[in-house]
Amino acid sequence: VGAIDLLIVGPVEDDVVEFLDGFLRRTFGYETRRMASLPNPDFARDPRRAQYDSTRILREALNQASVDAIQVLAVTGVDLFIPMLSFVYGQAQLKGRGALLSLARLRQEFYGLPPDRPLLYSRAAKEALHELGHSFGLVHCPVPSCAMSLSSNILQIDAKNSEYCPGCNALVVETLTTVRVRAALPQHEEDRP
Ligand SMILES: [Zn+2]
Ligand SMILES: [Zn+2]
Repeated sequence: VGAIDLLIVGPVEDDVVEFLDGFLRRTFGYETRRMASLPNPDFARDPRRAQYDSTRILREALNQASVDAIQVLAVTGVDLFIPMLSFVYGQAQLKGRGALLSLARLRQEFYGLPPDRPLLYSRAAKEALHELGHSFGLVHCPVPSCAMSLSSNILQIDAKNSEYCPGCNALVVETLTTVRVRAALPQHEEDRP
């Protein structure tokens, strides 16, 4: 019925990609497809900010995705910004097909602390849910533990669960069901005499 395309932009460690792949499969019940990695997104680098333009990377990721992908999750190690904010953890098209996630500020090393792999995994899972949630049409949620609550700093991310609250979950299930039905319809009709 389709798949979530996982697209890596620039260098990202295999174990993190492996983790996200499994997490997305378990959470959404879709196949995931790992697309060929893209090179470091130098085209999106802003030399003055020493950061990368999130919108341009997301656009490029969508250009690279296969047409039958239900969703595209691009994952990068570079630090992202949009012009009005000093940084973003990720970006998504609201009710669109694409989401982008940066690991840069999810690492303990970014804050001068020793590396913590399990913590990186858990933060990446939460932010993947968050950005994909937007692409499924969800807006920010007032429940602080919900993956869809807005995080402006890493402590707020750590305070969230790597799942949606019941209300947001119901919306995601509804969206996914609609997508599945829509994807299944043409084949079903072709089966008819
Ligand atoms: Zn958000
Ligand atoms: Zn929620």
